Amino acid sequence: MDVIAIDIGGTKIASALVTLGDGMPAIEHYESIPTEAKQGGDHVLARVIAAASRVQGLAPDAEGIGVSTAGVVDPRTGDIVYANEIMPGWGGTHLGSELSGACGLPVRVLNDVHAHALGEARHGAGTGAASCLCVAVGTGMSGAFIDRGFIVLGAHDVAGHIGHVGCTLAAGLPCTCGATGHVETVAAGPAIAAEYIRLGGDSEDGAEIDRRARAGDEAARAAQARAGHALGEVLGSMANAFDPEAIILSGSVANCGHHWSDALRESYAALAMKPVANTPILPGTLGGDAPLIGAGEHFKAPAYRELLA
Ligand SMILES: [Zn+2]
Repeated sequence: MDVIAIDIGGTKIASALVTLGDGMPAIEHYESIPTEAKQGGDHVLARVIAAASRVQGLAPDAEGIGVSTAGVVDPRTGDIVYANEIMPGWGGTHLGSELSGACGLPVRVLNDVHAHALGEARHGAGTGAASCLCVAVGTGMSGAFIDRGFIVLGAHDVAGHIGHVGCTLAAGLPCTCGATGHVETVAAGPAIAAEYIRLGGDSEDGAEIDRRARAGDEAARAAQARAGHALGEVLGSMANAFDPEAIILSGSVANCGHHWSDALRESYAALAMKPVANTPILPGTLGGDAPLIGAGEHFKAPAYRELLA
């Protein structure tokens, strides 16, 4: 099946034709354009429609459009329920119906972290695993629990918000969600940068801090280790609760060196119960292809049990 796949992020809109069959999906006609998110939701929607139309022009037989997007999505309607200040005016966009009307094709929409997780679970690091906990750590932190190919949505569509579970190092810290004590405030990229500055460092760039940690900068190492420790604690707790067959990490923070990953594994080991002590913790393997493949898969067949009639 040929599906037009779109991945909408705060900085870029990626589009491609995804061909789903036996084995690894094929990706053709890949294009990436700036989102220009600051120009508002209507502007972004117009760019998304234009990107989808370009792929449609190259692949007129495509059966539909699968969309991965930043923000909270109602997967039943394809509406953007909420988007943060990185994409002003994106919340409230009737993405699914607008895109479907403009292109004359059926559309299915899901959140970008869910799309990424679905791609990795079905065709990337999670291939063959009956269940996966996928966690993305970058500017923010989120995830998805995937059980036998289906993303767990929960009673309020909130399941998988692993950035918003408690950890000891975050006690009392205010979180972007309005609550306090959540792991995102310690484990995400901005938290590593803030801790590095607090310890006397002079860069807020995650890749630069990682380079310095590898070169022996003690403050950079300590900032990364603190974040790794917090993430490991949460992963150990989640493994005890859900017992996934594999844990898959993606996002820019997952590229940190061994000071981060050593701390992660140490605190994971401290928290994990014996049966889950050796659960594999794996890096994602699909990179930017993961959300496109996930969006294509979600179009082919809904990735949420809740959407099955
Ligand atoms: Zn939170």
